[in-house]
Amino acid sequence: SVRYQHLHKAFGDGSVALQDFSLEVADGEFLTFLGPSGCGKTTTLRMTAGLETPTSGEIFFGERPVVDLPPGRRNIAMVFQSYALYPHMTVQQNLEYPLRKQGVARDERARRATALAATLQLDALLHRRPKHLSGGQQQRVALGRALIREPEVFLLDEPLSNLDAELRTQMRAELIQLHRRIGRTMIYVTHDQVEAMTMSTRIAVMSKGELQQVGTPLEIYREPRNRFVAAFVGSPA
Ligand code: ATP
Repeated sequence: SVRYQHLHKAFGDGSVALQDFSLEVADGEFLTFLGPSGCGKTTTLRMTAGLETPTSGEIFFGERPVVDLPPGRRNIAMVFQSYALYPHMTVQQNLEYPLRKQGVARDERARRATALAATLQLDALLHRRPKHLSGGQQQRVALGRALIREPEVFLLDEPLSNLDAELRTQMRAELIQLHRRIGRTMIYVTHDQVEAMTMSTRIAVMSKGELQQVGTPLEIYREPRNRFVAAFVGSPA
């Protein structure tokens, strides 16, 4: 599990991104941080990845405090909205890149890239370069590149927000499928209620650095704890 315990984050300029944030994400869960711009979603994800240090409080991976693990040793992968593929590499080379860096042997790299390409429906595109792919295909390669190391925890920060509406709907369905197939913990960040409602096992609604409510999509929708949550998820009055 990933456990946040009384997490607090303030920046040097005095802005407070997160206050007393406590939450446990179970293994295999698809948990979404949902909230408006500036509510602290990205900061929480970046702290999970070790790209940012909490001002106080702790993050645990299982029983282990995350501060014991340098960012490179955390068994996580992160996908951002602006994914940068290597333009001079083919899809196959992009997928294999993280394994190459880890020194995984060529045969094993090829085997895993091929298997993943099948999962992500990229098999026919393995020899293309990114500029000859559609936006959705590029995003699938970015997902694949994150998945190929088979991380325990998968962090996704608005990965669909640069796609057009139709592709976004399609990718949503694909992410749900992917989560079912691989069964890994996914922590997803979005300001899009529909995205959160359709994909998540549970949603953590955030506002101004504070956790407002955690629950299944149905619980959040039917029994919003306060006006902010009700308004944000569009619960009936
Ligand atoms: P968005 O959806 O716009 O990315 P968010 O919910 O992910 O928003 P964060 O990016 O986590 O929000 O930001 C939370 C708060 O912390 C904001 O008020 C932001 O201005 C502030 N903040 C984030 N990063 C920094 C930083 N490096 N220095 C100072 N303040 C920051």
